[in-house]
Amino acid sequence: MQYRSHVNGEIRLKHVGLSVTLVGWVQRKRNLGSLLFIDLRDRSGIVQLFVKDPSLVPDLKQEYLIQVKGIVTKKDVANKALATGEVEIDVNSLTIINTAETLPLIVDDVTDAGEDIRLQYRYLDLRRSPMQEKMVVRSKILTAFHAFFAKHDFTNIETPLLTLSTPGGARDFLVPSRINSGTFYALPQSPQIYKQLLMIGGFERYYQIARCFRDEDLRADRQPDFTQIDVETSFLTQDEFLSLMELALKDVFLSVKGIQLPTPFPRLSYDKAMALYGSDKPDLRFDLPLSPVPRILRDAYVQAGFEATHIKALKLPNAVATLTRKVLDEWVTFVKPFGIKGLVMFKHDQGQLQSSFLKFVAPEKVSTLTKELGLNPGDVYLLGSHQELSVLNTAMGSLRTKGAKLLNLIDEKKFAIAWVTDFPLFDTNEEGQLVAAHHPFTRPQDADVAMLTSNPKKVLAQAYDLVINGYEAGGGSMRIFNKAIQKQIFSLLGMSDESIQKKFGWFIDAFNYGTPPHGGIAFGLDRLTMILTGTDNIKDVIAFPKNLKMIGLLEGTPNTVETKQLDELSIQIKEKK
Ligand code: ASP
Repeated sequence: MQYRSHVNGEIRLKHVGLSVTLVGWVQRKRNLGSLLFIDLRDRSGIVQLFVKDPSLVPDLKQEYLIQVKGIVTKKDVANKALATGEVEIDVNSLTIINTAETLPLIVDDVTDAGEDIRLQYRYLDLRRSPMQEKMVVRSKILTAFHAFFAKHDFTNIETPLLTLSTPGGARDFLVPSRINSGTFYALPQSPQIYKQLLMIGGFERYYQIARCFRDEDLRADRQPDFTQIDVETSFLTQDEFLSLMELALKDVFLSVKGIQLPTPFPRLSYDKAMALYGSDKPDLRFDLPLSPVPRILRDAYVQAGFEATHIKALKLPNAVATLTRKVLDEWVTFVKPFGIKGLVMFKHDQGQLQSSFLKFVAPEKVSTLTKELGLNPGDVYLLGSHQELSVLNTAMGSLRTKGAKLLNLIDEKKFAIAWVTDFPLFDTNEEGQLVAAHHPFTRPQDADVAMLTSNPKKVLAQAYDLVINGYEAGGGSMRIFNKAIQKQIFSLLGMSDESIQKKFGWFIDAFNYGTPPHGGIAFGLDRLTMILTGTDNIKDVIAFPKNLKMIGLLEGTPNTVETKQLDELSIQIKEKK
């Protein structure tokens, strides 16, 4: 006997009169004495059942799994909230397949449960349609990428999960080797080196849906294991490569969201992004650029005794009514940890420029200032300063986002995509040592190679990030394919010849055999799914995530293991100090 003749969500007027067999979970029931209504849910949706003689039906509780047979009938009054709302099922037999105990969480679109309970009973949480929808979007994204890569001649290749500890900017998860006692594998932070070796191996176009592992402190948008759509190609210039990836994203957005993304995507240099938006992943759904400050104001600022090494302004149109004293006070508190002392506010209100700061501006200059600021009635102009431009940019960039939220300038339905390019090749750490801004395999810009010796901090990289709505949704670079330059980069990063040889000799040796020019990217699947489902919580888009303490509450990971297992690995647990 079949379990079902139809899925619940597909029943429509055209089925009226048909006898159907359905299965599903009892989402809701209403017993009117002479009539029992049941909302029956399966993966496809909900259909309403009615039972004319409730006394013949066993007692049903929420999430009981039942099978019913009945006739599709037309409802007198359609329920517009349901896709199946024009019909209902007149039940003539009902069987309980499995019962359910009292539920630890409400299985419905909105649940009352806290996150820990949702994670502990994830299989119940996953039954809720908002969770199902997100997982479906995730799956559709993958399907679209697979189809794109197949169409464009990419080969899907898996790389080892038990691998070497290599620099990826985070701590590795280690796996002890039993057979080679005292040695460890590392779980990959990304397949970076392998995908480069695949280019050296002649594949030209590789991709992989790659699980990556980074042992970092968790935040709302991070998980210790996550998924990248990992890509590498040979013989493409940066421009050609970015254009190809635009086609991939176009396909993904079209098939998942029905949205036609215009190409080419805007490209913005890192310097410009920082100067205009104070962030290397600006939210471009709204404009609100940061601006330099007119001379008169800069002078007044100094005169007022403020730190004025770097000053920047944010103009907020039509904000006089919303940017109240209270909001401003909150913003001042918000920028304090950045080291920004006070924000100066000007407003164009009641026909004139107003600010307590005007006392520092010579009266005869006020009208020039008004003109230079170019404020319209209702506009607000905010100033902040700091000794370090990068800190100022970040702080003012955050205010830019706060301002957009306050003024309701963010169109939640919009997707603003751009490439941020021309990143610096190096950052400097607290000890003054150069560190790779992206990773050590990133190719410097051709025109800057000579500066590797003379002024490495100024060298720009052939690196790029994909930014969507203020999130970094992907990042990559063209790679070094010249042995001497690769060695030079390692040594600029503070590695001795000996340690280069020890750690990367095996990789650098591969450069001896006709390495092709190559480059690639990794898109964050979790991030992309978050963006396309409109959530800012990464746990919403992963079936079985860890909580913020890195604990898998459902299965209880991490776990202690038997002494015998430790003995086999020659491992002894020390007490943590
Ligand atoms: N492997 C890099 C990362 O995980 C991405 C890339 O350069 O392709 O960030």
